[in-house]
Amino acid sequence: MTAQRLGPLGPDATIGILGGGQLGRMLALAAARLGFKCHVLCPDPGSPAFDVVRRVTEADYADMAALDRFAADVDVVTYEFENVPHETATFLSARKPVLPDPKVLAITQDRLTEKEFVTGLGIATAKFAAVGSADGLMAALASVGKPAVLKTRRFGYDGKGQIMIRDGGDPAMFDELGGQAQILEAFVPFEREISVVAARGRDGRIECFDVIENEHQDHILKTSRVPARVTPAVAAEARRIAEKIAEAFEYVGVLAVEMFVVKDGAGHSVLVNEIAPRVHNSGHWTIDGATVSQFEQHVRAVAGWPLAEPLRHGPVEMTNLIGAEIEDLAGWLRMPGASIHLYGKSSVRPGRKMGHVTRLLSSPRR
Ligand code: AMP
Repeated sequence: MTAQRLGPLGPDATIGILGGGQLGRMLALAAARLGFKCHVLCPDPGSPAFDVVRRVTEADYADMAALDRFAADVDVVTYEFENVPHETATFLSARKPVLPDPKVLAITQDRLTEKEFVTGLGIATAKFAAVGSADGLMAALASVGKPAVLKTRRFGYDGKGQIMIRDGGDPAMFDELGGQAQILEAFVPFEREISVVAARGRDGRIECFDVIENEHQDHILKTSRVPARVTPAVAAEARRIAEKIAEAFEYVGVLAVEMFVVKDGAGHSVLVNEIAPRVHNSGHWTIDGATVSQFEQHVRAVAGWPLAEPLRHGPVEMTNLIGAEIEDLAGWLRMPGASIHLYGKSSVRPGRKMGHVTRLLSSPRR
């Protein structure tokens, strides 16, 4: 079902969310503030989003009977992760509107089709080549050059499924990544990493949050700061890129575009690294740091409500609490001006995102 056939949702409507992680939890909290009910479908019984919604379905994404019941209970379906299986999205979209449109998933689930899509819009990325075999890897290295990063085309996140190739390069690396379809990308000697979180409404209006500067540790986002330390020209270019991508997808909802800023003579160039067709960790600061959050913007968009014009309260810093860092919670809880968000995960694992803290860097004094 298309969104065009759906009027704006009434305030007591039910939004179906595929995926029950912290992103689904924060989406549901934002939806509740606007009066909506949420129903979350996720196979994991310990899903953080299950704790905060009216209805949950604990089922596999391939469980068609469960999907059928889920679809019957909701007015619109959205998702909090990009690896929603194609069959799941197709099955649901025959029953209820699925937003953003599942065609976006097909492109963004594969790093190669994603990069081809981006370059097809005239937007720069790192040089890249498809790798389908061990011999193909050596040919790709010859065309892309070194240093380079070898990545699986699908199911990679937070640096998983990636190998850095500085010099050398060995056909065995193809098997090290599981022998599945891969992409080789030139290593980008970036000055900084930034992202733009953009919302596009059903009416086609786009609202971007301010450009975000991101720092990763062990490939996992550690800190996001706003405003990013970039020139007005770089900020404008980054927003233009995000808007162009959102328009090309006829996107409805929030998406994030991760980019590299590279020093280029006297100026800078901006290269797209990745598109996340969902709310994004680098946009968590918006809950406390802006008049509308990325989560509310997403809910407004999929509900057919007008987007808000986001205003930022000041300079903001968001810090992820990863793995054992959650043991420092007592210190964060005492820190003046810190807004704490915990995801309710019962077990701590290295690299697991347990919560985040937002600080307004110019917060008003008491
Ligand atoms: P990804 O999973 O592609 O988002 O990569 C995770 C992180 O690895 C990025 O945020 C960068 O810090 C780093 N990275 C990935 N690809 C490249 C690249 N081609 N050049 C330099 N750094 C990269």
